Amino acid sequence: MYAYTAPFQNPAGSPIRELFKYLSEPGMISFAGGYPASDLFDIEGLRVAQARAYQDSILCLQYGPTDGLPMLKEQIAALMARRGASCSPEQMLITTGSQQGLDLLLRVLVEPGDAVLTEQPAYPATLQALRLQQARIGTVPVDGDGLDVGRLASLLASGVVARPKLLYTVPTFANPTGATLARERRIALLRLAVQYKFLIVEDDPYGDLRFAGEGVPSILALADQVDGSRDWVVHFSSLSKVVAPGLRIGWTVAPVEIARRCIVAKQTVDLCTTPWSQAIAAQYLADGSLERHLPRITTAYGHKSGALCRALRAGLGDAIAFHQPEGGMFVWARMPGVDAAQLLASAIERKVMFVPGKAFFAEQPDAAALRLSFAAPGVDAIQEGARRLQQAYQALA
Ligand code: PMP
Repeated sequence: MYAYTAPFQNPAGSPIRELFKYLSEPGMISFAGGYPASDLFDIEGLRVAQARAYQDSILCLQYGPTDGLPMLKEQIAALMARRGASCSPEQMLITTGSQQGLDLLLRVLVEPGDAVLTEQPAYPATLQALRLQQARIGTVPVDGDGLDVGRLASLLASGVVARPKLLYTVPTFANPTGATLARERRIALLRLAVQYKFLIVEDDPYGDLRFAGEGVPSILALADQVDGSRDWVVHFSSLSKVVAPGLRIGWTVAPVEIARRCIVAKQTVDLCTTPWSQAIAAQYLADGSLERHLPRITTAYGHKSGALCRALRAGLGDAIAFHQPEGGMFVWARMPGVDAAQLLASAIERKVMFVPGKAFFAEQPDAAALRLSFAAPGVDAIQEGARRLQQAYQALA
């Protein structure tokens, strides 16, 4: 009856959000969703920050600048400097979650039919955003060390992928694989971006959630070591996984001319990110609360990750294969010969959930893959959930 735009004639909703209806079932243990643990929120630190921020109530209640409150931009620049990356205020905009940063960037850069690349498997909301933008999505496989940059080099050299505008990657504790891109691959990727003139879109909401192994600088930070590459990096990050997603505070660091255009795009989306939230976030960071609180989160996630990996190995043995993550929130697993969608149906009957891998593939989905998040459930629930998963698997056989 209505004349919809092409991308909205038959739009597919988020496959993960479809699972939410099962979450409210009593007794459900969820390894689905990318929710951080709610019992690890720094409620007291945020209460203090909120009270201090509201002392300037007019700032909280009035519209703010589209690119973000200067006080928050200053704190984010300091946070980025601690992570090893410099950025000027002109290179940065505050967004309503980092999800908005991607949406703005695609509005600015991607026309229908443009070639773009993503890692495979990839974060589904990015695939959804690229599809709505009618991009032509090409994929680059991922292994235990992240994006297969060698494969990318040969795809580009052979012309199989011609002139991609951008490559999207979550290089640190990826969603969904949990993998981290090795340092030398980051450098090689930066060189390719300069050579072939595509933007590396680095999405980094999980980088601070390391609980094991050695830190690796972000691609943005490493761009200082590869001549000319800083012009080819856009970096997103967020307070969602390290403070609280309810704040809806993310940021984009981009070359100035791209940042300027993203700000114009944001003017028509929401005018500005909620100043109240921004002021609380700025105060929370200025109080030093993030550095104080973060170790509690990473320690807990380390325990939870260990508990999940041990329980899966004990319960499923050779039936399941995965890499143990060094940070983030996810275990990406394969169960050879199993259809993860069928396993999910059996699992839901036993009150445990996960996300079947299919949602993370732009093409040629691996039916045997699944993503398990260990962040939200407690250790006891993780062990019980793994037991239920084993029963669900046995019921299939
Ligand atoms: N990128 C990735 C890889 C994510 O996993 C998420 C959240 N699940 C986001 C972006 C969006 O986060 P935000 O809350 O900052 O919008």
